[in-house]
Amino acid sequence: MRPDILNPYFAAITGLSGIGPKLAKPFGRLLGREGEPRLLDLLMHLPASTIDRRARPTLAEVVPDTVVTLELVVDRHVPTPRGSRAPYRVYAHDETGDIVLAFFKADRSWMERLLPVGETRWVSGTVTLYDGMHQMTHPDRVVDAAGLAKLPPIEPVYPLVEGLGQGHVRRAVEAALNETPELPEWQAAPPGIGFHAALRLVHQPRETLDASPLGPAWKRLAYDELLAGQLALALLRAQTVKEAGRPSLGTGALSERIVRALPFSLTGSQTQALEAIRADLASKDRMLRLLQGDVGSGKTVVALLAAATVVEAGRQAALMAPTEILARQHLKTIEPLAQAAGLRVALLTGREKGRARADILAGLAAGVVDLVIGTHALFQEGVVFHDLALAVVDEQHRFGVHQRLALASKGEAVDVLVMTATPIPRTLVLTYFGDMESSELREKPAGRKPIDTRAVPSDRVDEVVASLGRALAEGRRAYWICPLVEESENSDLQAAQARFEDLRHWFGDRVGLVHGKMKGAEKDAAMAAFAAGETQLLVATTVVEVGVDVPEASIIVIEHAERFGLSQLHQLRGRVGRGDAASTCLLLYRRPLGEIARQRIEALRASEDGFFLAEEDLRLRGEGDVLGTRQSGFPGFKLARLDVHGDLLTRARAEATAIVRNDSDLLGAHGAALRLLLHIFERDVAVKLLKAG
Ligand code: ADP
Ligand code: MG
Repeated sequence: MRPDILNPYFAAITGLSGIGPKLAKPFGRLLGREGEPRLLDLLMHLPASTIDRRARPTLAEVVPDTVVTLELVVDRHVPTPRGSRAPYRVYAHDETGDIVLAFFKADRSWMERLLPVGETRWVSGTVTLYDGMHQMTHPDRVVDAAGLAKLPPIEPVYPLVEGLGQGHVRRAVEAALNETPELPEWQAAPPGIGFHAALRLVHQPRETLDASPLGPAWKRLAYDELLAGQLALALLRAQTVKEAGRPSLGTGALSERIVRALPFSLTGSQTQALEAIRADLASKDRMLRLLQGDVGSGKTVVALLAAATVVEAGRQAALMAPTEILARQHLKTIEPLAQAAGLRVALLTGREKGRARADILAGLAAGVVDLVIGTHALFQEGVVFHDLALAVVDEQHRFGVHQRLALASKGEAVDVLVMTATPIPRTLVLTYFGDMESSELREKPAGRKPIDTRAVPSDRVDEVVASLGRALAEGRRAYWICPLVEESENSDLQAAQARFEDLRHWFGDRVGLVHGKMKGAEKDAAMAAFAAGETQLLVATTVVEVGVDVPEASIIVIEHAERFGLSQLHQLRGRVGRGDAASTCLLLYRRPLGEIARQRIEALRASEDGFFLAEEDLRLRGEGDVLGTRQSGFPGFKLARLDVHGDLLTRARAEATAIVRNDSDLLGAHGAALRLLLHIFERDVAVKLLKAG
């Protein structure tokens, strides 16, 4: 399927010289591809910043605390005296002055080879003034004349993981660049630098701007990525329209029984959203609708009533959640209502095995299951529906177009409803979903009380624990969220474990723990114990972030709140304030609080409106808060940063629309180049929609 010219891009990086099986593992972690990272993944791992080594002053001209490259003659070595903790020192000079190069824990024979007395070496690093004397502690680079010729004037600095150094990444990237060819131009208005040339320039910058998201090279790549995304969506849409929908006309009988079984009445926005959905279902066009609703706004009921409508028409519905916890929780909410109405529901996740699984599959195929709730397991091969009419996808931003398509392909002209609890600014809706209709649940269910949100410095954690103790004694229930730590995959787990033990020490058996590495059954047990009130305090990693619903919980403590993005904090806070009790959210932060983090916490204190906070989040990111990690990036994008490249989106969209209008099967030379683009950015699921060409 994939054109041969792309094979080098998709080759495993273990084929590069110098990357053995030992480095493959950390590279896999770095590139987010355990198993087989490919050259492509490596090439799309762009520098986080650069170091400019072009300044070549004499010692007299050096500006302290800046990075410089000095030409020095080595005078003498003063090794660390035995038993001392002083650094190993090397004295050197140029014609304008002297400098001390200091090394901790240096090996003498190695040092003598690195800096031979009497010879000239080029030394790059940061010079400081120490007792009036120039000093450089641990130079970044020490090279001879030959090495100098190869020293990059501007050096990329990559995000790393444990077990990898900058040099590893740099060398691997260089090899990867040499192994991969330039590709035919696919942009309609070529920017003057090719795809491969742009990658090379970002990785091997000649100017600081070359490796910046603001520079023309990076912009080209970002545009490519956005174009690939928009093109895939446009193709998908063209295909969807081609394949006319089948009207599902409900009788209203099931829905009515469900509504009667509800312990509350629907909000105005819920009713409105349902009307729009029912109209879509009844029409002969296929539905592609986004249901946006803040946490706790009651999307699940809307989904259930939408499902009921197609079941009334004698067809089936599927509800897909991103995690098992959520799938089970949906089942728990839906089951009693479904039972009251006579709607037949089943659960299908990776955990249903053997006989039970076979029964569910048989039920789906025979049409005796009306609504199936599940995870990714739903669109695996072997899952066959009798007549799937509606696919509801919860928390869609966690799924790609790929999954949406896979689920929708389980039936004929399936109507798709996508639900998201992270309200998405309009620009982003276009990015992820293309031209989708959207319904918004802006109204909160009646009776919700505002959440008292407070920021507390982490050195006052003892007070927090003490007041938590009082609340637990009153029978209240609380979450304690432990931070996500990016640098090391297990440390977030350790932090949660440590906090759990700590709190156990105070509150004993009333404390539970749930985290992402637990087995499914353990997770369920922990959640169930908390939901039943057997445990009152649930220590959790961000697995509780989306959707988890325990209305009795009225306190949430979020540790290291400064590490979370605004939308994520809002999501987490939404775990409370779901019942009748007044709720509290405590944001524990480590001092000193950065400016952006401060504004984020301020916004959260000021508002509970997810739509407002989503815009605010985007604005704050736009102000350059990069957190230093990928966390703040936009899911699904490797190169494009919507804070910087958002304005390219409209153009990419227009170009994609024009392409599909002129050549909806991407035939011809330009079409062939565009197919390469779709493969490169792994939107090749869209290629499958095309006629062979
Ligand atoms: P989300 O939109 O976050 O998925 P849920 O569907 O989980 O929200 O609903 C949150 C809680 O609000 C649930 O306990 C649900 O039963 C309840 N709920 C939903 N709609 C209403 C309503 N109209 N009035 C009162 N409570 C409601
Ligand atoms: Mg939900």
